[in-house]
Amino acid sequence: MRRERRELSNWGHYPTTKAEISYPSSVEEAREEVLRHERLIARGNGRCYGDAALAPNVLSMLYLNRVRHFDAQQGIVEAEAGVLLSDLLDLIVPAGWFFHVTPGTRFITVGGAIACDVHGKNHPQKGCFSNWLLDFDLLRADGTMVRCSRQENSDLFWQTCGGMGWTGVILSARFQLMRISSVFLRQRTIKAPHLNALLEAFEAHRSWPYAVAWVDGLARSKQQGRGVLLLAEHLEGTTPETLAFPKRRALDMPFYAPHALLNPATIWAYNQLYFARARNGERPIDLEQCFYPLDRIRNWNRLYGRRGFVQYQFGLPEGQCQAGFRQVFELLHQSGEAPFLCVVKRHGDRPPEAVHSFPERGYSLALDFPRTRTLPALIARLDDLVWRLGGKIYLAKDACSAPQMGRIRPETFASDRFWSLLRERIQQKKANT
Ligand SMILES: Cc1cc2nc3c(=O)[nH]c(=O)nc-3n(C[C@H](O)[C@H](O)[C@H](O)COP(=O)(O)OP(=O)(O)OC[C@H]3O[C@@H](n4cnc5c(N)ncnc54)[C@H](O)[C@@H]3O)c2cc1C
Repeated sequence: MRRERRELSNWGHYPTTKAEISYPSSVEEAREEVLRHERLIARGNGRCYGDAALAPNVLSMLYLNRVRHFDAQQGIVEAEAGVLLSDLLDLIVPAGWFFHVTPGTRFITVGGAIACDVHGKNHPQKGCFSNWLLDFDLLRADGTMVRCSRQENSDLFWQTCGGMGWTGVILSARFQLMRISSVFLRQRTIKAPHLNALLEAFEAHRSWPYAVAWVDGLARSKQQGRGVLLLAEHLEGTTPETLAFPKRRALDMPFYAPHALLNPATIWAYNQLYFARARNGERPIDLEQCFYPLDRIRNWNRLYGRRGFVQYQFGLPEGQCQAGFRQVFELLHQSGEAPFLCVVKRHGDRPPEAVHSFPERGYSLALDFPRTRTLPALIARLDDLVWRLGGKIYLAKDACSAPQMGRIRPETFASDRFWSLLRERIQQKKANT
């Protein structure tokens, strides 16, 4: 089995840790590793932003990457946990299928999609990835493999969805796809001059299946929270189309930009330009343009320089969003920190059994901050504010927030917690020898 020891980080390049990474290519090899270590976490493609998937011992799932079965009639995929969504697209789109739920990058693994219970731009209609998940096999700390579904081991099923790898190692999964007859969508752009107009536009267009907004995180006074709402819906293919996932040649960011590149002045200028260039109207776009615009620049995270960046994504309950977002923008202005990308999404209800899923009825705001020395102080103040407003943060993006901010209660893992069990097992073995 391939093993390496190196400095490891996720998409935000912060924090970093020295880790021993093993790459099992069979269930047996994965089991061997689980039984060998006291502290181990499964890892997909490292597309989470913060400190998840980092530990002294990391089990990379990238070599467990076989598609076991694709039922092109029913639209059901069975795949090992290390299969990337990008690889599945080449298989499923030509057969007239797409994902019900996909995040803003296709370079994530099936295991990562389950462990973070990812959401897309259609949460009110389609929920999270777990909504379309039929079952998965989980490798537990004692080396046993358990089938989990809504019917079988259902507690473990729900604790694992959004459980950030804390219940064990997801080995493979089966999930349901969505029918499409075209690779094109209709996109409508709506410019909103301030936060109230933006949230009103979201509410007025609830019937659109996809909605996401870019927000100018630096706009002040009457323009505070101005943004551009992007709505989309799938088009029906009128003539029999040969379907293929559209791919353009990706641009590359070949080196780390100087840290000073993204500063309040350049971010302010970028925001002015983006808002001025946006036009109300409609146009056809394809699957890649709609769902994965950031994937078109490989290594775009290097734009933030070697110090990296922190994405702070938090959700607020409905009713708290307008006032809450205003308070957050005020806090940003006072702090002097400038978020580069700011994205708003609307979320629907969280099913009560999905105990660890991030989205809850209301809105979330994601803010990308270049990492500065003073950023942790701002994050602490944001945590405090979000907590008081009854909100929570998305653990897939968390780098330095207070532990309770995900509102995942450790007691829900009870004695099932993977790490505790690993440690107990090793200690017992030591005591017996
Ligand atoms: C550009 C970009 C856009 C994004 N947009 C969105 C978005 O719109 N919505 C959204 O929800 N997320 C979004 N994300 C976050 C990303 O989708 C999630 O963090 C996803 O889980 C990453 O998958 P991964 O395979 O890279 O997992 P990793 O980042 O490697 O791991 C993520 C977590 O999953 C656990 N894990 C991974 N594999 C397994 C396994 N086999 N068994 C058990 N645990 C496992 C890890 O321990 C870790 O806790 C985005 C990320 C990027 C970079």
